Amino acid sequence: IDFRVHSLHECMLKVIALMESEATRCGHQIYYKESMDAVLILMDQDKIIQLLLNIVKNACEAMQENGVVHMQLTCDEKQVTVIIADNGPGIPSEQLEKIFHPFFTTKAAGTGLGLSICYKIVQDHQGTLEVESELGTGTRFIITFPLAYEQS
Ligand code: ADP
Ligand code: MG
Repeated sequence: IDFRVHSLHECMLKVIALMESEATRCGHQIYYKESMDAVLILMDQDKIIQLLLNIVKNACEAMQENGVVHMQLTCDEKQVTVIIADNGPGIPSEQLEKIFHPFFTTKAAGTGLGLSICYKIVQDHQGTLEVESELGTGTRFIITFPLAYEQS
């Protein structure tokens, strides 16, 4: 793993750029509310982009036409929090614990590997990855990372 200090904000922008055409094709909107702070973390940049991309891609795949994905980056003196929320169908509670397992998929042509890779990437960065979901309302992934420096 290639750890360097990078801007998480830059990764968010990169992921939005990578998803733009697929989102537009499906009539989805991606909104991004960025933090005022320079949010630097020690990361393998390609891995962090892969992590965020997997989650945004899942959101776009889950939503009907004209869905909305909200991405948010906030930070306090200890950690950074990324929230990726959609207004898709939600995940049934009995599936919630399984979605991070390898090969769990509800898609006809899914591999079920995306979120298990996400989990590993977050672990490798000493972060946390959680999901909250409500049927008919949507799904929210919450990722935290330790900051590269103590910020004041
Ligand atoms: P895949 O995308 O190949 O199915 P993933 O590991 O990325 O594999 O996702 C596993 C499963 O988690 C998906 O098949 C889907 O059932 C569920 N899931 C993930 N993200 C969402 C989401 N935003 N909304 C609804 N279901 C989701
Ligand atoms: Mg996936």
